[in-house]
This record gives sequence, structure tokens and C-alpha cells, in this order.
Amino acid sequence: MTQRTLVTGGAGFLGSHLCERLVERGEHVICLDNLFTGRRETIAHLEDNSNFEFVLHDVMEPIDIEVDAIYNLACPAAPGHYQHNPVNTTMTSILGAVHTLELAKKCNAKLFHSSTSEVYGDPTVHPQPESYRGNVNPIGLRACYDEGKRAAESIMFDYHRMHGVDIRVVRIFNTYGPHMHPFDGRVVSNFIRQALAGENLTIFGDGLQSRSFCYVEDLINGFLAMMDADEATGPINLGNPGEFTMLELASLVLELTNGDSELIMQPLPADDPTQRQPDISLAKSTLQWEPTIPLAEGLKRTIDWFSEIDLSQWTPPTPNWGGGLTDE
Ligand code: NAD
Ligand code: UDP
Repeated sequence: MTQRTLVTGGAGFLGSHLCERLVERGEHVICLDNLFTGRRETIAHLEDNSNFEFVLHDVMEPIDIEVDAIYNLACPAAPGHYQHNPVNTTMTSILGAVHTLELAKKCNAKLFHSSTSEVYGDPTVHPQPESYRGNVNPIGLRACYDEGKRAAESIMFDYHRMHGVDIRVVRIFNTYGPHMHPFDGRVVSNFIRQALAGENLTIFGDGLQSRSFCYVEDLINGFLAMMDADEATGPINLGNPGEFTMLELASLVLELTNGDSELIMQPLPADDPTQRQPDISLAKSTLQWEPTIPLAEGLKRTIDWFSEIDLSQWTPPTPNWGGGLTDE
């Protein structure tokens, strides 16, 4: 029998790549999304396939379908998106976890959950291993996301201990690639969009803060390895340990786009982590997984995709978005 796999947040950046890979593997994919940051067009090429279906639904509401496996990705991920309606972000994270856990319990389905490096906050341990408990400001502007994700992890492990739900929790570090929302405000999308348009590149703060960037294809290989492992509750870090400052990233993007934009300094947002690099020893030993695509190569592919898309088709979430569903 064909495996029925639910992907919440399946019309988003990571979800759309995951849906593609799962359909390729011969699974019947149910892509569930409320289209807050995701777009139907991103998964349009899958919609002709009889092994793919789209369901417009909000994970803040219970989910009642029959499935064998679940990937829970629904949650805005970019600071500009998750700070847009912070209450909805927290509720999406927590209620999305509860509703996918209840479904996993009912269907006896394996549940993959996408957590984040943000659970480490502004880390005082570098690089960050899974055992590090983090340094999160619980009342700051990023807390809706960070604490929402921490609470989701917490309830994942309680369902696992209380009800034996087979959970697979990964902590994802900054990932980039085609299908990123070009107006998500993240650094990779901003720099590429700005460089291609000949606009100034916006450096927040002094640009010396660091991030580690993973190409999406590598990350999805990690998702599948996590789900396929005999036993891997996690949490397991997934990311590329290559660490770059934002100034280094800016010059690489300019080099690869043959751009000559100026760099302009803008204020550093509150609680912006100063450094971030995954310790992926556990992923290597448990999943035999590590990323293979260097930043320059991944950026080239991402720049190619950004060069081809019609930016007018991508709009930022509306300022008065309140969690309602739209099918447009
Ligand atoms: P994204 O914004 O592109 O995708 C999220 C998807 O979830 C979108 O399609 C959105 O419409 C949908 N969604 C949001 N709220 C929903 C709700 N209440 N009900 C149903 N659908 C909803 O972001 P992404 O980068 O693809 O992130 C996917 C997951 O991975 C998120 O859970 C995010 O926290 C996690 N993650 C991503 C990164 C990264 O670098 N991309 C890093 C760490 C963690
Ligand atoms: N950043 C920047 N210019 C931009 C957008 C972001 O310098 O136009 C910085 C941001 O302050 C942060 C880093 O780039 O230090 C990564 O930001 P992003 O929003 O991509 O991810 P996150 O902060 O969630 O890791």
C-alpha cells in the first residue's frame, strides 16, 4: 500500500522541496497549508500528480485525516514573517504541535517535527551541540518564535514519554535555496534580490555577526535520513557548519552576481544572535548525514532561481493579516 504522508506547511520554502522528494519516492503526499507565507504556485507542478493533494487548513485547528507519516513544518520562519503576528506564531507552533501529535497518536504515525537553532537563542556556547540549553530572551521580539518552538519541542517529548508517539525532532540552522520567499527579509533573499536589482545591500549592525548556511537539498536529505532511521527521537541539529559573517556573505553574493552595489549599514534588530554554528556530530554518527554543497555553489543555484522569478507574483503578508484563510 502506498504510504500516506502529511506535510504541514507544504506550500512553503522547505515544505515544497520536501513534497517534491516524497512524491518522487512514491509516497502519497497530502500538503496542508494556510498559505500565510506559502503559495499554491510553488507546488503547482505537483498538483497534476495523482499522488499529491493540497488541503487548505490552519494547524491551529485539529486535523482529521488518515495518514502513516507526518512532517510538521507549518510555521512562519523568517523574522519579518513571524513577527508580523507574533501571537499567531506562538499559537501556530504550539497548537500545530498538539494537533499533529494527536493525529500521530490516533493513526500510530511517525511524526517529524521541524524545530530550529533559535531554541539556542543568542548562544554562549559555540558551536552549538544539542545538549546546550540556550540563551533565549523570553519576552523579546523573537520570543514568539523561539519560545513557541521550545514549547513545541517540550510537548513533543511529553507525548513521546506519555503516549509513545514516535517523534523525530530536528533543529534546523539557516537554510537557503530556490523557493525562498523573496520578500521574507532574510539575509540571503535580501542580498540576492538587492544585488540583482543593483540596489544597496543592507548590513544590519557591523556585519560581523555570523551564521552557517545550509543549501536546501542537503537539508531535505537530512529530513529523509531522520525519518528513515530505525530510532532517532532527536533533537538532532541539521545545518552546514561553514560559518560566515554577513560582510563575507555580502561580498560572495556581489562576486557571484557580478554586482557593484554599495553596502549600507542599518541598525541591528533587537536580540539578533551574534554567532551561530551547528555542531553536527550527532547527525553524522546517528544518520550518517552531512551537507555536501558549499555556500558558493548553493548561492549560484539560488541566484539562478531568483533571476528567473517574477517578483510581482510574490507579496509580503498583508499588515492586517489575522490568521484567516485565503485561497487566492
Ligand atoms: P516558510 O514560511 O516558507 O514555510 C512555512 C509554511 O507554513 C508556509 O507555507 C505557511 O503558509 C505555512 N503556515 C504558517 N502558519 C500556518 C498555519 N497556522 N497553518 C498552516 N500552515 C501554516 O518557512 P520555511 O523556511 O519553509 O520553514 C519551514 C519550517 O522549518 C518552519 O517550521 C520553520 O520554523 C523551520 N525552520 C526553517 C529554517 C530555515 O532556515 N528555513 C530554519 C529553522 C527552522
Ligand atoms: N541581516 C542583514 N541584512 C539583511 C537581513 C538580515 O545583515 O538585509 C542579518 C540579520 O541581522 C542577522 C543575519 O543577517 O544577523 C541573519 O538574518 P536572517 O533574518 O536571515 O536569519 P536569522 O537572524 O533568523 O538567523
